[in-house]
Order: sequence, then C-alpha cells, then structure tokens
Amino acid sequence: MRYSELFGKTSKQIPKDETATNAKLLTRGGFVRKEVAGVYNYLPLGLLVLDKIANIVREEMNVAGGQEVLLSALQSRSNWEKTGRWKSFDVLFKVKSQFKAEYALGPTHEEVLVPIVRDRVSSYRDLPLYLFQIQNKFRDEPRAKAGLLRGREFLMKDLYSFHTDESDMMRYYDVMRASYKKVFARCGLSAIETKAGGGTFSEFSHEYQVICEAGEDEIIYCPGGDFAENAEIAKVKEGKQCDLGHGPLKKVKTIEVGNIFPLKDKFSKAFGLTYKNKEGRDEFVIMGCYGIGISRLMGAIVEVLHDERGIIWPEQVAPFRVHLLVISDEGLVISQAEDIYNKLTRAGVEVLWDDREDTSAGEKFADADLIGIPARLVVSRKTGKDKVEWKERDKKETGVISYKEVIERLKGG
Ligand code: ATP
Ligand code: MG
Repeated sequence: MRYSELFGKTSKQIPKDETATNAKLLTRGGFVRKEVAGVYNYLPLGLLVLDKIANIVREEMNVAGGQEVLLSALQSRSNWEKTGRWKSFDVLFKVKSQFKAEYALGPTHEEVLVPIVRDRVSSYRDLPLYLFQIQNKFRDEPRAKAGLLRGREFLMKDLYSFHTDESDMMRYYDVMRASYKKVFARCGLSAIETKAGGGTFSEFSHEYQVICEAGEDEIIYCPGGDFAENAEIAKVKEGKQCDLGHGPLKKVKTIEVGNIFPLKDKFSKAFGLTYKNKEGRDEFVIMGCYGIGISRLMGAIVEVLHDERGIIWPEQVAPFRVHLLVISDEGLVISQAEDIYNKLTRAGVEVLWDDREDTSAGEKFADADLIGIPARLVVSRKTGKDKVEWKERDKKETGVISYKEVIERLKGG
C-alpha cells in the first residue's frame, strides 16, 4: 500500500478530548476516530489490526471445535424478561421502536442463543456443542474514558459451550484455558490467568489480566507464576510469602482482556433447554461461556507496547510487516524504492510505502515511529543499488543490507 493513497493520515495534534494513551496514539496514528465517548470508528489502518486480532481468536476457536455464528444485536425484550436481566443488567441499552416494540441492544448473547439451541438440541447425542461469534456489543457503561479499553460499542468474541454434565463442561473449560493462553501469546501479550468470583451461579471464574497501570482491575499474584487472584475477592494480602517459596505476592493494576465462566444451568432453566439422557429422562443442559474483548485487546496492546514516539506493534497484529521510506526526490532513488516495493509485494510481504514527495525525512521517520510497524526500511542516496537500511521499531541499531537479505528476513520472521 502506498501511504500517499491511504485514507487516514497521522496527525501531530494530541486529541484534546482523550486522556487514555491508547486513544491518543491510535487517533494520532490514523487508526481510529472517535464518534462519541466510548464509540470508535476504525479507519483502514485500524481495521487491519482489529481484523488480525479477530482472526487469531477465530483460528483458535475453530481449533477448539467452535462453530461460528452471527447473532442479532437487536434482541427480544421478552427473552430478557425471562431471565430477569431486562431489569437487573445494569448497563443494558434499551431501544424503542416507533412501532411500540422495545428491544435490548445486545451486551451479551445468552438470551438470543439459548432459545436457538433449545429448538435444535433434544438428545445427549446432540451434545457437546460449541458456538461462537465475533460481533459488536453495546453497553451503557458509566465511564467510557479509556479509549478502546472501555467502549459503549466494542468488538467481542463470545463462545458458549453446551454439555450433558458438569464434568464435561469442566473438560472443555480446560480446553478454553489452553486456547486463551495461545490467543494472548499470539497477540504479543503476556496475560495472567487469574481466579475471580463466579457471581450468583458459580464458585469461580477465570480472568485473563495484562499488567498495566492504565488498567481498571487489580490482582494479587505470585511473580513465580503459581498464583493469581482478582484483588476484589482475594483473601490473601500483598506481601504474603508465596507457599512455593517464590517470595512476596504482588499487587498490580491490570486490564482484563478475557474471561471464562461456568454458567451451569442458569440459562437452561430460564429457557427450558433440556436434552434426553441415555435412559430417556429430561435433564438440563450445562453451559459455559467464554469472552475475549477484541477491541479492548487492541487498546491493551497499545497501552503495553509503546514508547514516547508511538506504538510498537507485535509482528502478528501489525497493520503491515514493514514500512518502506524513500528519503530523496531523485528519480533514481525513487525507482529503487519502487523496485523493492514491488519485490516485497510479490514475495507476499505486507508493505506500507511512504511515497510522499512533499514530506521531509524527519516527518517520515516520526510518522513511522508513531504508526509502529515492526520493521523500517529506508532507501536513500546513501544506501546504494540493491541495498536498503533496516531498522526494527523496538531497537536502536540500523544496518544496510541487500534486498535479498531483507526478503529472507521478512519471509523467515
Ligand atoms: P469488565 O469487568 O471490564 O466490565 P466484564 O466482566 O463485564 O468486563 P464480560 O461481560 O465477561 O466482561 O465480557 C467479556 C470480555 O469483553 C471482557 O473480558 C473484556 O475483555 C471485554 N469487555 C467487557 N466490557 C467491555 C467494554 N465496555 N469495552 C471493551 N471491552 C469490554
Ligand atoms: Mg462490565
């Protein structure tokens, strides 16, 4: 992609109405534009990142046997009344139609999915079943000042699992735990699996927490890796010695990027979701649910991986693999840059080429740092024929290498 043609350019202005680092950097970088508080539009660069994260999540859910669906955002009021959540769900958006009807604007999808599954599952042979979607959720959050971390409209992956009994649900719960670890590692983050409360219908749940000062959660954990609990529920105190001798437990601020939850029969009971067991008796289906905040994950990556100059995307979710700058207005140098752009593109490398003619070298370097693509290539009068300067976004060193080596490095990595 030629930067001169890209819709959504960088901006030097720090957005006045943003306090969160992720919102400031993503807005200045041309990734997003705020619509209203807690609601963001994704411009082409931003959508490239969001889609990469969503695809990592989708791949891992498919590996875990999930089948993808797309459920409605406008939801039946009467189903929300059946579970009592029309009144009790504190951040539910309610939408009035001009034709009298009222809808819930989906913050989560148990009320939609459980009735669908009830009509299609009748026997133990139909179970287990794993359904997921990647879709915008709506929540009337009181504070929406943290950019992508807390949206009123945001992208979530939600998977729901359906089982004959609790032990099968717990078997799949462990499958999801393993999938979640892979998802966050592939997104370049280290997420701590943290024990949390289970609300009214379960003793526990697990949250995936990324250490970050900008987070709204707090956890108490052992840096040796054998213990982590949400500070809200934890009985132990910071400073207590870890039982396995790893030293004192620490309390840190975190961002919750995902959580998994045994729902048991709460929603099956509300909607009469039963199956016939081997003896022909009706039993309630046992459920689990598993969420990942995909847009929050994008915000969390920016919060954790940036410096004073801009974002530092991990390779797997970067909008492009390499950022090519041409620093000269001489025809020969420009044609050299064009040549490497074509070679990289043909080799299947995603490259953003800053081909602007009216922009200084300093501005191009600053923009490359702000946008945060993992590798930067510079073609200038100094680099010479078939050579290019290579620099990684998170390193200081630069070096001049041949085109051939560039392609080898990029294809290998
Ligand atoms: P939180 O405690 O942060 O409000 P939650 O416990 O309400 O989150 P769930 O309802 O389980 O979260 O949603 C699943 C995932 O969706 C969360 O782990 C989080 O990553 C993400 N998420 C929840 N609320 C928001 C929001 N308002 N904006 C962005 N992502 C969100
Ligand atoms: Mg919430």
